[in-house]
Amino acid sequence: MSLPQSQATDPKSIDWANLGFSYVQTKSFVRHVWRADQGWSEAELVQGTSYIPMHVATSGLHYGQNCFEGLKAFRGPDGRVRLFRPELNATRLGESAVKVGMEPPPEDLFLKACRLAVEDNIEYVPPHGSGGALYVRPLLYGSEGQLSVDPSPEVTFIVFVVPVGDYYKGSGGVRGVDALVDEQFDRAAPLGSGSAKLGGNYAPCLPSAIAAKRRGFPISLYLDAKSHTYVEEFTTSNFIALNHPSTPGQGKIEGSSDSAPTFITPNSRSILRSTTRRTLCELATYFGWKVEERPVAWSEVSGQAGDGSDGFSEVAACGTAVVITPVKRLVRGDQEVLVNGGASTMGPYMQKLYDTVRAIQSGTQEDIHGWLWPAQGITGTSSKDEE
Ligand SMILES: *Cc1c(COP(=O)(O)O)cnc(C)c1O
Repeated sequence: MSLPQSQATDPKSIDWANLGFSYVQTKSFVRHVWRADQGWSEAELVQGTSYIPMHVATSGLHYGQNCFEGLKAFRGPDGRVRLFRPELNATRLGESAVKVGMEPPPEDLFLKACRLAVEDNIEYVPPHGSGGALYVRPLLYGSEGQLSVDPSPEVTFIVFVVPVGDYYKGSGGVRGVDALVDEQFDRAAPLGSGSAKLGGNYAPCLPSAIAAKRRGFPISLYLDAKSHTYVEEFTTSNFIALNHPSTPGQGKIEGSSDSAPTFITPNSRSILRSTTRRTLCELATYFGWKVEERPVAWSEVSGQAGDGSDGFSEVAACGTAVVITPVKRLVRGDQEVLVNGGASTMGPYMQKLYDTVRAIQSGTQEDIHGWLWPAQGITGTSSKDEE
């Protein structure tokens, strides 16, 4: 099949200090094809194009039989490259695949495909210290041309990579955002597919999210679809909050246990299980903070829970792209909630979590939790023998 050719960006032409978050064609992407009668094919490195062949009746396009992942690879001080917790993405892609009737790629195949994509595109990994990363995008879709709504007998798994910049560098530093509670649209039904990273979960959020952006709210917050009482998550990031008794800004970070903050995040079945959130929960536990994964009522956020508290000390959105985005103000109808007095900076405890994650990712802090893979790092030349 002849495909349109397109030019890879010359890695030497990339301005690492000013990279954003947009598509850049790298040298290659990895492809595996699964067929019901043949199982998984060997990895294929596709070079010189950003296009993929597609049947006009591709089920991944018509019936939404597709899912994806997003993770990052970082260049350490030793010049070698490591992926951040890729096994969590492997597991989640498998769960998403099953939710839409697709064959899940085995973990080993997933990891090797990510590694190969990084290895072959090693020149596109931003330098250590630039704050950038190689964003890795695995994609799985039913690739059979068929009219019936049936599981596709052919599934294509692709891993492409894109160099991306430090979000906060590009946007002039950390700035708290305003979030609008979406009252027009429910992202996920209680027994629906909100916990899977399905392509079909995102486009339906667009109309209300665009309307919110026009009103000055970069992110939208969704409540539980059944009762509109509990907080679920933002459009592409999870909801996290911190409570601490001390005045923000004077927070005693390494305090005794009675002054330790509490890290709170919703445990709904219909939210996407963010790998970043899991990392933050584990770090908070490691720091000796209390961690509560439980239903979070909107009334707690708005300070009307009747328990005398006036909302959370710190609220943020978390995900792979930015790690932590502080939320300074939330609006629901005519209700307005200011977090930490509406301050635009990151609160002291979110800052500690953020700094720790970034330091581990960039290799400037020891990876005592074993989150970077492979431990010995990826180099441009095949390093498989070092496994
Ligand atoms: C991807 C995503 C997240 C963030 O997950 P990470 O694994 O931390 O990147 C959160 N919510 C939704 C809906 C997502 O799609």
